[in-house]
Amino acid sequence: MRMTRSVSVRRGARVVVLGAGFAGASLLRHLPPVLRRPGETLLIDRREEYTFVPLIHEVAVGRVHPRSVSSPIAPLCAGACEFLHSEVSGIDLAQKTLETPEGPVGYEYLVLSPGSVEAEPGPLLQDYFQPFWTLDDALRLRGALSDAWRRATSPGPPPPPGILTVAIVGGGATGVEVAAEVAALFDYLGKRSHRRPPEEPRVVLIEGTHRLMDWLDPYFDRVARKTLSGLGVEVRLNSPVEKASADGVLAGKDWLKSATRVWTAGVEAPPLVRALPGEHDAAGRAHVGEHLTLPDHPEVYVLGDAGVYTHPRIGPMPPTASVAVQQGPWVARDLKRRLRGARSKRGRPPFRLFDRGYVVSLGPESAVADAVGLRLRGPAAQALYRSVLLYYMKSRRDRILTGADWAMERTLGRLGFGPVS
Ligand SMILES: Cc1cc2nc3c(=O)[nH]c(=O)nc-3n(C[C@H](O)[C@H](O)[C@H](O)COP(=O)(O)OP(=O)(O)OC[C@H]3O[C@@H](n4cnc5c(N)ncnc54)[C@H](O)[C@@H]3O)c2cc1C
Repeated sequence: MRMTRSVSVRRGARVVVLGAGFAGASLLRHLPPVLRRPGETLLIDRREEYTFVPLIHEVAVGRVHPRSVSSPIAPLCAGACEFLHSEVSGIDLAQKTLETPEGPVGYEYLVLSPGSVEAEPGPLLQDYFQPFWTLDDALRLRGALSDAWRRATSPGPPPPPGILTVAIVGGGATGVEVAAEVAALFDYLGKRSHRRPPEEPRVVLIEGTHRLMDWLDPYFDRVARKTLSGLGVEVRLNSPVEKASADGVLAGKDWLKSATRVWTAGVEAPPLVRALPGEHDAAGRAHVGEHLTLPDHPEVYVLGDAGVYTHPRIGPMPPTASVAVQQGPWVARDLKRRLRGARSKRGRPPFRLFDRGYVVSLGPESAVADAVGLRLRGPAAQALYRSVLLYYMKSRRDRILTGADWAMERTLGRLGFGPVS
């Protein structure tokens, strides 16, 4: 592991932020002047580049360039903090230190924002599915789709059955977004290819429960199913996947021959978070109090996907970027108050989440949204979706590049899919 800037890791810093994702980065952008001095704030992340994951489904189908959704982490600190590129393997709450390959890192206040990890398929399934979690996963899927289309439309011996069938397991927001994009991609390729493939492309979205995106209002399920059906996606509900092989998957009662199989079912807390004391939800996320700290450790904040914040009216909030980006700036303000000596409830008002709602993309032309009391679908929701994503991006560079990718996709064609035969 390499330290990007020299830092006295033995000493650590007054505030240590673990994770430069949505929560950690939004905190650093609001760091009060008192924490911008040398030795005050240390950021640790195991990666040197951060990926804007809400857009990787568009990378997978060649609509957005991979560089547009990755940005270096070090500039986040730029004069305000030190950055340590390293992986934290343990937390000693009693000694107030983090374990890293560079040695222990001490803290007075710890901000834990390491995000989630993907819930992997069971051991009988994991060899037969591609994960969909990182930029590399998106690029792997792009390669698999491109290769399948090329094989299906090339002269020569006929390709195996199911070459153009894509099975996506998990009807959450990610599965829905990937299914819609892949269906739109096949439509795009079909219109541009001179040779017809020997079989019709199929996109099958397989979900174990009775509806899609079951943690959202049923409106999302209704609109998504209608739009997906219009795009030609087959949705199989009540079909928990228990069997798969190198050429297909059992979807409900049918064996579905499919060359490309993608797993998008679920997220869970990383081991570091699971090991924390106190209550955890079923996914291992740590419950936090109204100041976003651990019940017996007021010096440890747990933000973003790693913590469960319970909204007084709505209940436990789901792991979303919208929650994470509100928590970071709030913690920056809370730290400022604490460093000024505020102790009472009046001096330290609790965190209150503004429920901004949610928006899910349904291919290049459509989306579904329930945002601040407004229900939208179709192109208006897609316009809202794009504005929200650009707003959440960390840098102007990423906004400009992504906006340019969207503007130019009709003229330049899709990355990784041309020229078609
Ligand atoms: C494919 C996909 C699509 C999504 N789409 C949406 C969407 O459309 N809208 C939405 O609201 N949400 C979406 N989400 C969820 C959203 O991305 C998360 O809620 C958000 O990233 C959580 O932010 P965070 O700061 O908690 O963690 P993250 O953004 O994941 O950041 C965690 C950081 O911690 C670092 N880290 C982790 N462990 C360690 C360690 N041990 N040592 C050092 N560094 C470590 C990681 O490298 C990372 O940089 C999506 C997620 C995925 C995977």
